[in-house]
Amino acid sequence: MARHLSGTVVPVALSGSAPPLRLPPTASRLKTARIPTVPVVSPRDLLGRPLRNLRVSVTDRCNLRCQYCMPERDYVWLPRQDVLDFEEIGRLVEAFTAVGVDRVRLTGGEPLVRRDLPRLIALLADNPAIGDLAMTTNGVLLEDEAAGLRSAGLHRLTVSLDTMQPDRFLALTRSDAHARVLAGIAAASAAGFPSLKIDAVVMRGVNDDELVPLLEYGRASGAEVRFIEYMDVGGATLWSREKVFSRAEILVRLEGRYGAVEPLREESSAPAERFRLPDGTVFGIIASTTAPFCRACDRSRLTADGLWYLCLYATRGIDLRGPLREGASVEDLAALLRSAWLERADRGAEQRLASPARTPLIAPRELRRDPHLEMHTRGG
Ligand code: SAM
Ligand code: SF4
Ligand code: SF4
Repeated sequence: MARHLSGTVVPVALSGSAPPLRLPPTASRLKTARIPTVPVVSPRDLLGRPLRNLRVSVTDRCNLRCQYCMPERDYVWLPRQDVLDFEEIGRLVEAFTAVGVDRVRLTGGEPLVRRDLPRLIALLADNPAIGDLAMTTNGVLLEDEAAGLRSAGLHRLTVSLDTMQPDRFLALTRSDAHARVLAGIAAASAAGFPSLKIDAVVMRGVNDDELVPLLEYGRASGAEVRFIEYMDVGGATLWSREKVFSRAEILVRLEGRYGAVEPLREESSAPAERFRLPDGTVFGIIASTTAPFCRACDRSRLTADGLWYLCLYATRGIDLRGPLREGASVEDLAALLRSAWLERADRGAEQRLASPARTPLIAPRELRRDPHLEMHTRGG
């Protein structure tokens, strides 16, 4: 199956890899003008979805090896010279905000392994079109960074934590940094982020017995916990349907412990559905595997080397680094983004749900051939 994008054929199959897509050279080479702060009308894709959320992966490197994300022994890394510097990221983000993006989340890999990250946050916080600047981190390096991230202008922080048990953390991540993550969450809590979340991937037979301890810990830390279904994304080479602990099972488990769980009715494109326990505690579930939310998806992803992916499951990205380094103006880049988004029809998770025999998405040898297929490269 193929669709056309600015004259270029783009495969949308969910397996295999392909070289990045180069869009036609940009027309003008005008000097960048500051983007006006008036609200921008975002383009709508072929399913009527606006472009509002951008996840920026600042590095493909990570200091953990989570079983559901990086279970392999060896990885192929992005060439260092391809990784965008902070000014390049800022310029690309400016183009994104010129076409309607107003929410930016930094991710990775592990964003805090990128040196001097608060400088990037300060640079992005200066962009008046960004209403929401967030970051997802594994928390290992957070204790020393939390206050600096907050004062640099980061609004919201999500820390990934799948277990309250140090031994289990070691088995899950191949690292003994559990206490450091907890210290990081405590520091984030003290730093006064208006929103602090804890994301936990739930895997059957691994940590599905920890829903209650994680919720209790989140409550004590002032963080909202979100349970994520194990997804068959690129990189999840150990994925199997049996290991998915579903939203329905999570709710049954929590109702058994706390009593009736009330769904919160919210108008939102956010992937998490939110619920309230009888005692008022609010938590979320991201059911991307059993109940995907593609119909409302306004998210896209930028890799650390400047490829733009219109879906978490897309096999091909659009090269923005090339035009950027060849001198394209913000307006040129914005035009490129707009024309690509108008052609978007991706709904990868829904397509996966419909596939009968579901096995891991991409084989390790394919991942080695194109590391952009990895979750840790394109950002979760
Ligand atoms: N390293 C940071 C972290 O772990 O928070 C940011 C990058 S990580 C790729 C972003 C999110 O993706 C994490 O919350 C992680 O739990 C989630 N993730 C990775 N692999 C996943 C999988 N197979 N299924 C569900 N979530 C996954
Ligand atoms: Fe774990 Fe995040 Fe690193 Fe993946 S990128 S291995 S989820 S810490
Ligand atoms: Fe959006 Fe693709 Fe995820 Fe669906 S699978 S929610 S379209 S990123």
